[in-house]
Amino acid sequence: MTDPAGQAVPSHQFDPIGDLLGRIRLEFADDHRGDVASYIPELSTADPEAFGLALVGVAGSRYEAGESGVPFTIQSVSKPFAYALALADVGMEAVLARVGVEPSGEGFNAISLEPGTGRPDNPLINAGAILTTSLVAGGGPEERFGRILDLLSRCAGRELPVDAAVYRSERDTGDRNRALAHLMRAAGSLSVPAEDAVDVYFRQCSVLVTAADLAVMAATLANGGVHPLTGERVMDQLVAEQVLTVMATCGMYDYSGEWLLRVGLPAKSGVAGGLVAVSPSQFGIGLFSPPLDERGNSVRAVEASRAISERFSLHLMHQVTRTGPSFVLVAEDGTEMSLPSPSGLGVVDVPVLSLQGYIEFASAEQAPLGLRRHVGDAVVPQGIVVDLDHVTQFHPVAVLLFDAIIGQLARRGISVVTVDRQGRGMVASAGEFPRRAEALAHLRGG
Ligand code: GLU
Repeated sequence: MTDPAGQAVPSHQFDPIGDLLGRIRLEFADDHRGDVASYIPELSTADPEAFGLALVGVAGSRYEAGESGVPFTIQSVSKPFAYALALADVGMEAVLARVGVEPSGEGFNAISLEPGTGRPDNPLINAGAILTTSLVAGGGPEERFGRILDLLSRCAGRELPVDAAVYRSERDTGDRNRALAHLMRAAGSLSVPAEDAVDVYFRQCSVLVTAADLAVMAATLANGGVHPLTGERVMDQLVAEQVLTVMATCGMYDYSGEWLLRVGLPAKSGVAGGLVAVSPSQFGIGLFSPPLDERGNSVRAVEASRAISERFSLHLMHQVTRTGPSFVLVAEDGTEMSLPSPSGLGVVDVPVLSLQGYIEFASAEQAPLGLRRHVGDAVVPQGIVVDLDHVTQFHPVAVLLFDAIIGQLARRGISVVTVDRQGRGMVASAGEFPRRAEALAHLRGG
């Protein structure tokens, strides 16, 4: 384990996540199914036993197990990052006009082109990725590749080298990719010479990474485009979200649907055995194990990702069960009051609602209902104090909801003031006070 400052945490210290990765690695290390890719001759030299896992949190902590430092070529894991660059350079609409976002349901190197237009199904299969490189801004193939390498390196937080032998091997044997480029050129969808497009693509696939690099790159996407260790914004948050969306639906070749069902995380795999998966807002994982299944996904990386997702309950559609309300009704002296109140409003002329934690739709929506249950419909309070001292953040939908609630109450003659020692102005009220007593005095006309 390494802390955000890059300091290794001594192994005798508490490292539950590192332990868990190590256990998962052991569990699948003996799974010898699958074959190392050989259609690019140079890839066939990979060690089938190598198996590395790494996890990087959005706050910058790093955990690793096994061969997480062994270099291999990034291959198709480069595709979402090149797509990010195209989105940043020309915008989503222009990219969408040229490359679709529909899962192809076909193999990674299939001729998945729209009849007539030659528009590839999505940017994460070869045809779409070759076209995507041509959308990246630059005067020619050198500059376009330079910009892709720069983005990959900034996401990894170090200058990534290129494996010249793999590049040559792929260039010398990549006739199917060349054919795809020529078909797109003939259909009019590819606007640069076919040879230029595939050359950038072959180079981008030959960039060397480790599982540890992939985890940092995945964490950058998880963190909305901000590198978790350097703090550098390497892409807009919107672009990171768009990339994750396409990874969720198209990232695992013709296994994408089943992957989403079983693992439930945006991901991308590559034929050298690499895989990235992202738990949005939480962390990224990088895995490496060369033997591939018949769809081209690393057998052990898929199994290990599935185990991580299941054990951490990470599936995107997983329901978050809230254990208690994120608001309480408190008396002037700060003691919590029961909901509903047995005595009605008699006890409070100005109720104080204290909110805590991260306020999302569910808590913002429940707060006025809780208040109503307490004071009843018959009595109109003079005003309401909403104490925000213990709130960490408002989700934008909760801000909208509070605006609507405060507006409705104001129209009924009930003014709402807020308390926030830090004066963060998180919601617009009839007044924000640093202390509860001042807010109460204001509403009581003091
Ligand atoms: N460079 C590889 C190819 O185009 C990438 C394939 C992959 O990783 O899916 O064949």
